[in-house]
Amino acid sequence: MQVFNNGAEWHNYWIQTLQTHKSIGFVPTMGALHEGHLDLIKASKKTCDITVVSIFVNPIQFNNAEDFEKYPVLTDQDLSLLRQEEVDYVFLPSMETIYPESPVLSFNFGNLENVLEGEFRPGHFSGVGIIVSKLFNIIRPTIAFFGQKDLQQVAIIKRLALDLSFPLEIQVVPTKREKDGLALSSRNMRLTSIEREKALLLIKSLNQAKNELLTGESWLEVRNKVQQLFEEEALTQLEYFELVHPETFEVFSEFDPHKKSSICVASFVGNVRLIDNLSINP
Ligand code: AMP
Repeated sequence: MQVFNNGAEWHNYWIQTLQTHKSIGFVPTMGALHEGHLDLIKASKKTCDITVVSIFVNPIQFNNAEDFEKYPVLTDQDLSLLRQEEVDYVFLPSMETIYPESPVLSFNFGNLENVLEGEFRPGHFSGVGIIVSKLFNIIRPTIAFFGQKDLQQVAIIKRLALDLSFPLEIQVVPTKREKDGLALSSRNMRLTSIEREKALLLIKSLNQAKNELLTGESWLEVRNKVQQLFEEEALTQLEYFELVHPETFEVFSEFDPHKKSSICVASFVGNVRLIDNLSINP
């Protein structure tokens, strides 16, 4: 496994790869790697000849300074995990490599970012758009792998690739969960044991809502019940619980079994903000 820290170093490897007509799978991450990240890496290794993983905690996608400061950094542990997974290359850039200057560019993804994560985290998707564009330009992958756990991010990145004609494919990997259903997240390690228990409310409410919708209850009723569940739990603070189209992020006011639909949730559990989603009609 080779670790490289800047685009020039990678360029040499990239030229070699190009000459041998090998496909490049790319998995961008912010580190503190878990089994969810490893699923993306496995998908890349299965589909592509070589796999590149990046680790960079991108400050400009954090709308909350404390969230950025407390974001776990576990580089040595990450590198040994990646070695075990037999990843070919790791891109571990410094802040100066990625941001020699603060970017003046910003993205506006229109309706895709006016709701949910975009609404509650102003500037987040512009920051995501900038880092992902930079990484695509540096790595030049054949296929880039993203997790369904960040459903709105997937929609944004697909649109970014379309609008800017990035010559690559986007592949989406299903959400990896703990045995009890909690979606894996680097932020989970910041939960206390009692918060870890309460965090199950996210997946429980998603499952409950899905079952109730499929047995004919109205979305309004279903959502009211879920909001009440969160209100009754002092350690949680619900930000949103919405029924959306998983690609356009149109927010639905009622469930239509003929339309693609997913439920998305964001809630604080203690000081930790968690998100999750469940597909109802893929
Ligand atoms: P992050 O390091 O949180 O920025 O995540 C890097 C990539 O891993 C993103 O494409 C995420 O959607 C994906 N990811 C994070 N958690 C999971 C999970 N539990 N299952 C599958 N993919 C995930």
